[in-house]
Amino acid sequence: MRCNLGVVFAVALSLLTAAGCSEHNAETGAAGLDATTRRLLAASEEGQNWLTYGRDYSETRHSPLDGINPGNVGRLGIAWYHDLDTNRGQEATPIIVDGTMYTSSAWSKVQAFDAVTGKLKWQFDPEVPGKVAVNACCDVVNRGVAYWEGKVFVGTLDGRLIAIDAGTGKQVWSVVTVDQTKPYTITGAPRVIKGRVIIGNGGAEMGVRGYVSAYDGATGRKLWRFYTVPGEPGKRDGEVSDDILEQAAKGWHGKWWSDGGGGGGTVWDAMAYDPDLDLLYIGVGNGSYWDQVRRSDGKGDNLFVGSIVALRPDTGKYVWHFQETPGDQWDYTATQHMILANLTIDGKNRKVLMQAPKNGYFFVLDRATGELISAKPYTAVNWSTGYDLRTRQPKINPAALYSQQKSTWVALPGALGAHNWQPMAFNPATGLVYIPAQEVGFVYKSDPDFKRHADGFNIGLDLNVADLPDDKAVQDAVRKSVKGTLIAWDPVRQKQVWSIAQDSGWNGGILSTAGGLVFQGDTHGMLSAYDAAKGSKLWSYDLQTGVMAPPVTWSRNGKQYVTVVAGWGGAYPMFMGGLSWNGNRPGVNRSRVITFKLDGDKRLPAVETTERGTLQAGLAGVDPAIIELGRRAYNRTCTVCHGGGAISGGIVPDLRYSPATSDPAMWTAILVDGVLEQQGMVSFKRDLSVREIEAIRLFIADRARIAQQATDRKAAAGGKSD
Ligand code: CA
Repeated sequence: MRCNLGVVFAVALSLLTAAGCSEHNAETGAAGLDATTRRLLAASEEGQNWLTYGRDYSETRHSPLDGINPGNVGRLGIAWYHDLDTNRGQEATPIIVDGTMYTSSAWSKVQAFDAVTGKLKWQFDPEVPGKVAVNACCDVVNRGVAYWEGKVFVGTLDGRLIAIDAGTGKQVWSVVTVDQTKPYTITGAPRVIKGRVIIGNGGAEMGVRGYVSAYDGATGRKLWRFYTVPGEPGKRDGEVSDDILEQAAKGWHGKWWSDGGGGGGTVWDAMAYDPDLDLLYIGVGNGSYWDQVRRSDGKGDNLFVGSIVALRPDTGKYVWHFQETPGDQWDYTATQHMILANLTIDGKNRKVLMQAPKNGYFFVLDRATGELISAKPYTAVNWSTGYDLRTRQPKINPAALYSQQKSTWVALPGALGAHNWQPMAFNPATGLVYIPAQEVGFVYKSDPDFKRHADGFNIGLDLNVADLPDDKAVQDAVRKSVKGTLIAWDPVRQKQVWSIAQDSGWNGGILSTAGGLVFQGDTHGMLSAYDAAKGSKLWSYDLQTGVMAPPVTWSRNGKQYVTVVAGWGGAYPMFMGGLSWNGNRPGVNRSRVITFKLDGDKRLPAVETTERGTLQAGLAGVDPAIIELGRRAYNRTCTVCHGGGAISGGIVPDLRYSPATSDPAMWTAILVDGVLEQQGMVSFKRDLSVREIEAIRLFIADRARIAQQATDRKAAAGGKSD
């Protein structure tokens, strides 16, 4: 171990002071740190590159580039685009390292491009088995890769962490990070801290126990694992979390470790790192089951569900935590994007951590100690009336405790959150955080007859209550109640400064630039640039498909570029089904990597319209009791992917138009024999009886019949058909 403190720059110096010398010796430089680590520590200064998921360890997503600004942003045009080979959701943040762009797409595939020309250098396909899709709550997405010392790292949907040679696209090493017999998935981007690749996982809707792990970037050897919820009392995991979880277990009740729920608390997205304090921050997800009575006898805080936890990146050792949603039963994850900044609050310079999680509050924490500095709602909130800063507890509305009360609770925010995984951004010049927020309600009710399913969702809720009536006026009213908002938030005053109203939720992640711009894509497929101080829209461009992923910016030879991965999908269209159809482009995904520059003159090809096929409306006169049986079985098993009322959000087939709905033999081949397993549709024979499988078919045919009637009525009235 070599330590030469005389030559290191300030940020690396503080890291060494806090952590001792790095014992990690791959390609060590003068400071005992490898070259990539030294660059990552100063990533905020490398405007030409985008070296890590959130641009820098503080995850600001703010670029120092100002070549594109309010005066010339109107000249932005396409420099190049690349069509991806998938029509599932795209959520990735591209990484740009010295002229090469590394990004990922659905099914955990990784691409490398010449960043300037868009020429594909290589694509890596980890060949994720299609059947794994049933374990993914929210589409087969991937949010991006990490780069370190000539390697690109990706977490795959089936739970592997793979190191790829950045030059050749060939696999260097691969480790399985989960028990693949359990419904774990990875969709989040890894981070690399001092050569340690940090990766979490998802699956808390299916029934798993969450954790985060670190692997040696050079060899793939596991270094440590921190479980976020306790396991069986009296049994130690032999991991760094053992001691703290013995304390956490006091806030757990019942038999959470053995009843198939697993406790949840998955670390599926946000992380941040402060090198001065040498703290890694992880965001911990919801409890499993959602129903707290089923999970924990309806009591206890259930640590570390819904919490931010600070760990030592070298060892995974616990330092502090703050639980945002004690005893969560609303899927209020604390996995949303966290940003580190230094703010002057009450005349004092504070090192803060900021988060706008699903539960609707904007939190400002002291990131050294976990002290709650402030918490204010940034959206409509009805589950609580605020936080007591001294006790750090929310004042929970008793009516929101639907599982204890055996009641129905209509909530804002809903399970999709007031803000989900789509990253925010922080501009230190304006002092504002830009939040891609939304208002999407949800109806919570426990299912008294719930039994754990072999495949798919296991949340313990009755999803029948969310069924919409066939009355179009009611449907339109519900659709209209769903809103998105781009919010510019002052984290010091805890106040909105400006906002842009959007007529749909699930809009894209944010990019902020020193050019005074805020970039965001939206559900309708428009990529727009706003004035960072005032919120006025300065430019927008039609990308022909819904955009969820956050744009990035970078430069080469003095020229600034903006890149975004376009493509619709994810939790919102899957959960919301037909309600996610906003505007004129229902459920369309044309997945592309698109790069813009000033005066770019490429054009996207003309949009080809695709037909959904024919409504399978041949059946009539079926026994209503069978249809009701089919409805309940559909809602329990199918609705989370194929959409409420059998109206698809467009990411997976709309079954009302599927020929299988009119063909019992084909239906059986799919649902019983699993012939479409490679496409992600597994056999459900473990969860559904033969009678239920046929009843679901008849229910969907009945939905097709009702849709056909509506179309016929419209045509008779002289209107066009849908
Ligand atoms: Ca969740």
